[in-house]
Amino acid sequence: MYPAKFDYHRAKSIEEAESLCKGNTDASFLAGGHSLIPAMKLRLSDPGALIDISGIDDLKGISRDGDAIRIGALTTHAEVETSDVVKDGCAALSEAAGMIGDPQVRNRGTIGGNVAHADPASDYPGILMALGATIVTSSRSIAVDNFFTGLFETALNDGEIITEIQVPAIGAGSGAAYAKFFNPSSRYAVVGVGALVSKSNGSCSSCRIGVTGAADHAFRASAAEEALNGSDLGHDAVEAAAAKVAEGQEMLSDLSASANYRTHLCGVMAKRAIAEAASEA
Ligand SMILES: Cc1cc2nc3c(=O)[nH]c(=O)nc-3n(C[C@H](O)[C@H](O)[C@H](O)COP(=O)(O)OP(=O)(O)OC[C@H]3O[C@@H](n4cnc5c(N)ncnc54)[C@H](O)[C@@H]3O)c2cc1C
Repeated sequence: MYPAKFDYHRAKSIEEAESLCKGNTDASFLAGGHSLIPAMKLRLSDPGALIDISGIDDLKGISRDGDAIRIGALTTHAEVETSDVVKDGCAALSEAAGMIGDPQVRNRGTIGGNVAHADPASDYPGILMALGATIVTSSRSIAVDNFFTGLFETALNDGEIITEIQVPAIGAGSGAAYAKFFNPSSRYAVVGVGALVSKSNGSCSSCRIGVTGAADHAFRASAAEEALNGSDLGHDAVEAAAAKVAEGQEMLSDLSASANYRTHLCGVMAKRAIAEAASEA
């Protein structure tokens, strides 16, 4: 399939990209192109202009700033997977990045493009929600809990560029993990669950559970978090909390999995992620 005709601009700076976009409501930024180009070829997306941001150096790189890991929007999944800064500060995030697609996708796709696209089956939304990440744009910071608003919808305004993703490093007494049930053909998440667990005196002092793939957008599993908080994190407590992960959510039902099957997978993936996070804490 060929995409419809479009204009192409290559921006050299964030300011140039934003000004090229101003007043051009049907323009799209192009990063790794691994979601946008297939969508254009299928004519699911039809931007009149592409503003290529892939050459902007200010959007690249990974660094540690105190307790925050700062990941430039153009950082590829492979770079997140292999970065020593990410492995040292938040190994669960590098493991989640390594589960995305295949090597070609991981070498081209970017973390900024992934969250901006807000595919309900993407991996980062689940783990970033568990980690309490912040999505930073050129004008503001958005807590990840408020970022994903619907199917392929985010809190971004037209023409707003994500500059970096900030992830708090995992502190002493805390552990994090991501468990995913792969779609066998695309490797997207049918259901993926991220968990962050903190322990004090052997019990759970706080936790965050983020779920992707299950509903039209990623969500925090608040009923499960409530059940886990204060528990001894033993087998029964983890099982009881995991059973509440889908509570209050409308599960997707499609060719990959029915709503009932996704509810079941939420419980299974949550058990794995919580147990691994708790054992690391
Ligand atoms: C075969 C295949 C398998 C895949 N499997 C998985 C998987 O298992 N898990 C998974 O999570 N993903 C998967 N993906 C998707 C992949 O991770 C994409 O790379 C990612 O979703 C989009 O990133 P990108 O850099 O390619 O963005 P692009 O395709 O370039 O852009 C996507 C959207 O984000 C916008 N955008 C890009 N960068 C920015 C920015 N900095 N600020 C604001 N808006 C921006 C664009 O305008 C566009 O609307 C798969 C893709 C393919 C083709």
